[in-house]
Amino acid sequence: MGRKSNRKIENQIKRVIVLVIILLVLAVASKNGILENIEKDLTQIGILETVGEVKQNQEVDTKISENIVLDKNKLNILFFDVGQADSELIFYNGKTILIDSGNTNDGENIVNGIKSLGISKLDYVIGTHVHEDHIGGMSYIVDEIEIGNFYLPYNTKTTSSYYKRLLNSLTEKNIGIEEATVGDKIQIDDLICEIMSVDNEEPEDANDASIVTQITYGELKYLFMGDATSRNENSREWEDVDILKVGHHGSNTSSTERFLKQTLAEIAIIPVGKENSYGLPKQEILNRLNNLGSKIYRTDIDGTIQILSDGKTNEVIKIDVSFDGSEE
Ligand SMILES: [Zn+2]
Repeated sequence: MGRKSNRKIENQIKRVIVLVIILLVLAVASKNGILENIEKDLTQIGILETVGEVKQNQEVDTKISENIVLDKNKLNILFFDVGQADSELIFYNGKTILIDSGNTNDGENIVNGIKSLGISKLDYVIGTHVHEDHIGGMSYIVDEIEIGNFYLPYNTKTTSSYYKRLLNSLTEKNIGIEEATVGDKIQIDDLICEIMSVDNEEPEDANDASIVTQITYGELKYLFMGDATSRNENSREWEDVDILKVGHHGSNTSSTERFLKQTLAEIAIIPVGKENSYGLPKQEILNRLNNLGSKIYRTDIDGTIQILSDGKTNEVIKIDVSFDGSEE
């Protein structure tokens, strides 16, 4: 081989080496995620602590606006399908009450849902107790939607991140936490929402703190149990109700025979996740409800459930829309 061809090969090798080096540098840069590292640093020094803008979820928005219709002349109650969690929206005469906000991952979907329904203000927001499946998504709601009165069982020492985030959001919006007391009433025209149970002294089991509310509208009563337990159920007498939001996702810590016999709900609604790891709702509770003649609806089977009421009769509409952020 001549000198000329040797040099040619050398040059080609040099070129290949330079190319390989460039490719290696690019690969290392993208793999290490230089941008990601910057983000990590910012989070460490606290700049990216807030949740950030709620992402518009076009799919959820369209599904909601196409499938859920609020009847402005009736009481509307939406039991959102938020998987293994709780969230209910009450809409009456242009006013709203939100009870619970699902898990952290459901927050954005609930915000999008509420906005898609044309609601710009939540007049009353009730976080029943400080477990994630009830207030995890709440900071998104506070950040994105105007709120009137905000209720949460008082005096909690919970240090979980979703709770701290909620407190930050409330502080930023200058919203105080109102203490609920048994007997307190929220009134929207001829609709009355009464606090039936709450423990503001931070019981050992946070479920025991649950703010339990009962709505009376016309001849009908609606009872929302949060995750209240048998301890709360046994602490008072209960009225006959038409619709019961079953306590603690159908767990046998709640729904005692005595309580179910007193409330005698025509319709029982259980917000519960598909194939959840807790085995909820418990068969024992389903049997108890069935034996008392309650018609059972479940968010894992029936999806989002809408109740339309004129104060005399309830219409139940099953809607195939999920707000469960853990599915995405
Ligand atoms: Zn729960």
